[in-house]
Amino acid sequence: MQEILETLKKLIMAAGPSGFEQQVREVFVKEIMNHVDQVQVDALGNVIAVKNGRKNGPRIMVAAHLDEVGLIVKYVDEAGWVYFEPLGFIDERSLAGQLVTIHTHRGTVSGVAGIKGKLSAKPEELAKSIPASEMWIDAGVASQKEAGEIGISIGDPITFQKRFETFGGGSVICAPSLDNRVGCSVLIEAVRNLKNKPHDATVYAVGTVQEEVGCRGAKTAASAVNPDVAFVVDTTIGEDPATPRKVVTTKIGAGPAIRLMDQSLMLGHITPPRMKQFLISTAEAEGIPYQLEVLPRVATDAATLHLSGRGIPTGSILIPRRYFHTPVELAMVSDIQNATRLLTAGVMSYHA
Ligand code: ZN
Repeated sequence: MQEILETLKKLIMAAGPSGFEQQVREVFVKEIMNHVDQVQVDALGNVIAVKNGRKNGPRIMVAAHLDEVGLIVKYVDEAGWVYFEPLGFIDERSLAGQLVTIHTHRGTVSGVAGIKGKLSAKPEELAKSIPASEMWIDAGVASQKEAGEIGISIGDPITFQKRFETFGGGSVICAPSLDNRVGCSVLIEAVRNLKNKPHDATVYAVGTVQEEVGCRGAKTAASAVNPDVAFVVDTTIGEDPATPRKVVTTKIGAGPAIRLMDQSLMLGHITPPRMKQFLISTAEAEGIPYQLEVLPRVATDAATLHLSGRGIPTGSILIPRRYFHTPVELAMVSDIQNATRLLTAGVMSYHA
């Protein structure tokens, strides 16, 4: 397997629900540390890896969020059923019957998201999807006491059980947390690519925390770095047979998306025209396929990052994937490669 896919697999197999990014942060640091001059971790848990460039060259921040959507233990009842709240905008419909992992202070505990069975559900219940509030986690224990004995306690984070599958003759990857472990792997590979190439810029390669709960880590990381310009690497939504073009215009396999506008509640970003032009001309000069995208109802770290300090011109390079925030996110290897090429070329050719 190519190095970038090996890195991606390691990132996916490490847990990192929002606010609990320790494991994935360790992998990120290990994979990037030999290719940079310095690695710091800030108080929130963001990793800031610095690769020095020419003195007085531009200061470029490239950011990918480390965290993934998950759940958090709310309480355990007398009979040992574990109830939870979502951590991030998880697709609740995809939870039913899924294997999950509870991350306790004593280690990991497996469980399954249980639902009311077909025999006990009323016809109207069978016709609708099941909200998370009507599910529980069955961790194979018979009481609250037994749950406590194996380490389960209130506030423990929960992830989908980890897996990494490739199919489509090796062209496709299917796994939970492709959002945003693909972005992390692209960022790490782009930094590796800089190794033997002359570049003016000092590059701040940042793995951010808590993006899925409101782009929180990017805010402190951007104010610490205070770059001249930033590129965010994340995932976007790829079309499927049930999603009309009116909603989603990007396809998997057609190259990275350059997002021009998004807006989710109070969080959003509009790409400056100069940045749009820079990314398009970089892609065209390198012969890299790309897609332009306008996608309301979502946001990335660009939303908080660009508002830092006196304002930071920010561009987004996004890898399309299907089935977002479910355990079976699906993306194409070619898009991961092309996003890496675009980010590498962008960093190398940017001049203030
Ligand atoms: Zn994301």
